[in-house]
Amino acid sequence: MQINERGKITVAIKAEIKNWIDGKVDAVGFAPVDRFGEAPENHHPEHMLRGAKTVIVYGRLIPRGVTRSPGYGKHFLHRSYHTVYPYLDELGYSLSNHLEAETGELAVPAPSYLPMVFHGMEPWGVLSLKHAAEKAGLGAFGRSGQFYHTKHGAMLRLGGVITTAEMEGDPLIGDMPCPEDCTACIKACPVNAIKDEREKFEKMTCLAHTIKHVIYPLALKSEEGRKRIERVTNTAGYDYWIECFSCVKVCPLNKTKD
Ligand code: SF4
Ligand code: SF4
Repeated sequence: MQINERGKITVAIKAEIKNWIDGKVDAVGFAPVDRFGEAPENHHPEHMLRGAKTVIVYGRLIPRGVTRSPGYGKHFLHRSYHTVYPYLDELGYSLSNHLEAETGELAVPAPSYLPMVFHGMEPWGVLSLKHAAEKAGLGAFGRSGQFYHTKHGAMLRLGGVITTAEMEGDPLIGDMPCPEDCTACIKACPVNAIKDEREKFEKMTCLAHTIKHVIYPLALKSEEGRKRIERVTNTAGYDYWIECFSCVKVCPLNKTKD
C-alpha cells in the first residue's frame, strides 16, 4: 500500500495515541467523522468541534463480579459507575491536552455521562458514545437496543475525545452480536421495555424504572420544574441510583470471553 506524507503523519499520531492510552483503558477505537453522517446536526462531532476529523472512543470495564453479587449488586454497580465516570472524564481531559500539545491540532473531551441534552423529557448524550463506539469498531448494537463490545459485552463504561487530528478508522463490526434464538433480556425486563427488534427499545420506559434520584420527585413535581429538567439533571442528578439491571445480569454477551 502506498502511503503519502499526510498518511504517514496520521498513522504516526494514531500509534502514538494508542501507546499513550495503553494500560489506562480496556478498549479503544478510532472513528473518522465521515462515519457520523446519520447523526442529528446537534449531536454531530462537527457541532462540538469545527473541523473535527476523528472521534476516539475508549472504555473501562466494570468487574463482572459486581453484577453477580447476591445481596449488593445495586450498591456495587452504583459505586462502580460513579467511580468510573470521573476517571473517564479525567482521561478525556488528559488525552485532549496531550493531543493538542503533540500535534498542534484541537481536541475536546466528550462527557462520559453528564451534562446531557434534553429533547422534551428525553435525555441524549452530547455525543452518543454508544453510537460513536459502534463507528469506532468496538462492537455493535444488540437486540436489547444496547451497545455490546466484542469481548466485554455491556460491561464497559465509555468516554471519548473529538479531535481535528486525522486518523485512520478501525474496521466496523456490523452484525448484531446476539445469538439468533436468544430472548433472555426481553423475558427479564420487568417493564417490557425491550422488544424483539433493537430499534423498538423503549428508552424512556427503561429510564423511568431504572434511574432514581432523591431530588427528581421534588424538583420535577411541577410543570415549571419539568421545564427545567436539563438543569436539574445536569446539576443535582449526577450521583443517581440504579434500580434495575436485570437485562445486564442475564445477557450471555456479558459473560467472560477469551
Ligand atoms: S435496565 Fe431494567 S428496565 Fe431497563 S431495559 Fe434492562 S431490564 Fe428493562
Ligand atoms: S440477552 Fe440475548 S437477545 Fe438480549 S442483548 Fe443479550 S444476547 Fe442479545
